[in-house]
Amino acid sequence: MNVRLIAVTHPLVEIQNENLTPEGLIAYCARVSSPHQENLNYEKLLAYCIKNRHWSIFEMVDMTIEIVTSRAISPQILRHRSFVFQEFSQRYAKAQNFEACTPRRQDSKNRQHSIDDLEEETVAWFADAQEAIRTLSVEKYNQALEKGIAKECARMLLPLNTQTKLYMKGSVRSWIHYIEVRTDTGTQKEHRDIAEAVKEIFISQFPVTAAALGWAQTAR
Ligand SMILES: Cc1cc2nc3c(=O)[nH]c(=O)nc-3n(C[C@H](O)[C@H](O)[C@H](O)COP(=O)(O)OP(=O)(O)OC[C@H]3O[C@@H](n4cnc5c(N)ncnc54)[C@H](O)[C@@H]3O)c2cc1C
Repeated sequence: MNVRLIAVTHPLVEIQNENLTPEGLIAYCARVSSPHQENLNYEKLLAYCIKNRHWSIFEMVDMTIEIVTSRAISPQILRHRSFVFQEFSQRYAKAQNFEACTPRRQDSKNRQHSIDDLEEETVAWFADAQEAIRTLSVEKYNQALEKGIAKECARMLLPLNTQTKLYMKGSVRSWIHYIEVRTDTGTQKEHRDIAEAVKEIFISQFPVTAAALGWAQTAR
């Protein structure tokens, strides 16, 4: 898994000879009807808008994140329909890498939960099983390509832990709700790890908004 910031809206509005920050732009747009649009203090404004669910102001700024994950997790990410995406195409390029997964025990009461307490023997068995599937699927996938079979067909031989890369662009509003939902314990751990990494990026880019949301930087 890898998560990397690749773009944030770049404001062109200058106040006191300095470009606004992305958060400053959110506040500037929020104050469209105010005579104090150039006010550079906006902590209270952003907190007020969050508290009163005035979400549209957070749609004035976008952030784009690069995510490297597995084909098991990317469909969950793609469900967040308010974002726009570009994903690595297994129809045009050869699949190369695989994401190893450390298994967890199924929670018998909650289907959306798993517990990290499997015996070492079971964990080792799962690692061997992944390696065996990977070796066989890579061998057959490469043979399929050598036989002239199209990549879009050959990929049917690949497991769900085949690595993929996505670019995910959305507004600050969408990222707030994505982070809230996907850092929750109801989300699969492999996806939660991505959302936690996105959260750290969000906090560094939008510190005033993050503080108003009560988000603190986690130690990694
Ligand atoms: C634990 C879990 C289990 C799931 N299980 C299934 C399943 O079994 N089958 C299945 O098909 N799908 C499942 N999903 C997917 C889920 O139904 C959604 O499709 C997915 O989370 C995308 O959310 P979204 O449609 O809100 O899109 P988003 O793009 O995240 O949000 C759409 C819009 O709504 C806004 N928004 C979201 N939340 C709020 C809020 N609280 N207040 C104000 N605005 C808000 C966003 O800002 C955005 O503008 C699951 C999701 C989770 C988290």
